[in-house]
Amino acid sequence: MKFFVISRGDDTSNKLTRKIKSYLEDFNLEFHDTEPDIVISVGGDGTFLHAFHHFKDRLAETAFVGVHTGHLGFYTDWTPEEVEKLVIHIARTPFQIVKYPLLEVTVRYNDGSKENRYLALNECTVRTVEGSLVMDVEIKGELFETFRGDGLCISTPSGSTAYNKALGGAIIHPSLPTLQLAEMASINNRVYRTIGSPLLLPQHHTCMLKPVNDVDYQITIDHLFLLHKHVKSIQCRVAEEEIRFARFRPFPFWKRVKESFISD
Ligand code: NAD
Repeated sequence: MKFFVISRGDDTSNKLTRKIKSYLEDFNLEFHDTEPDIVISVGGDGTFLHAFHHFKDRLAETAFVGVHTGHLGFYTDWTPEEVEKLVIHIARTPFQIVKYPLLEVTVRYNDGSKENRYLALNECTVRTVEGSLVMDVEIKGELFETFRGDGLCISTPSGSTAYNKALGGAIIHPSLPTLQLAEMASINNRVYRTIGSPLLLPQHHTCMLKPVNDVDYQITIDHLFLLHKHVKSIQCRVAEEEIRFARFRPFPFWKRVKESFISD
């Protein structure tokens, strides 16, 4: 089996990364930086997001597991003290795969540029570089509302505990292939009107955001910030691809939610 270890880059994570690599090589596993069967992320959720984006073109072949060198993360549930145990699991036991849904975002342009397609593990957010965001929101090809406000956040179920949660969105179990559309400070008065509640869309329902004016947009895909000009539409839907987690022991989603936000 081929493996890769990715580090947050701080001393603690680098040291642990070297340790994991050396242990796995002792078990005759092959270190491979382009075609790993398993990627071990060492750091925090941010490091895990980097690992996902680095290997996003081989999601069908690569499984992911996260070790946290800070606090418990949503994608990183192994502690540095458990690394020996994790290595033995990876080397000796065929692991179970748990799949989580992803978000597909397609940005199209009105100046003839080629469309761009992205995959998000947490979410996509859209804001203008200057002034309020004014967007027609279409659901399944029908105009639903014209949004005015700070921005919109479209999240995956596993991303529902991230930015979406800060916006008052619901926490969604990742066994549900859905996307959630949440508002950032919408303007609601006698002239402008939006639904005000987060919306959950099932698989195969597409949400299309269509700019009302030609301004520049800041689009985030997880931790990535991208500037887009001449945007014609931003299409969001549940992706065909899924992320595959290597599971060696049960750690139910609701337990993770409780331990991250309430208490151990
Ligand atoms: P960062 O360093 O600003 O960390 C953001 C925090 O979000 C970290 O504590 C991280 O552990 C946590 N986080 C990330 N994914 C999570 C998830 N799925 N569930 C629960 N918590 C999660 O940024 P980063 O580490 O590069 O992570 C980027 C993510 O930060 C974005 O995808 C976005 O979800 C999140 N974010 C949140 C807010 C907010 O809550 N107001 C604002 C900006 C970005």
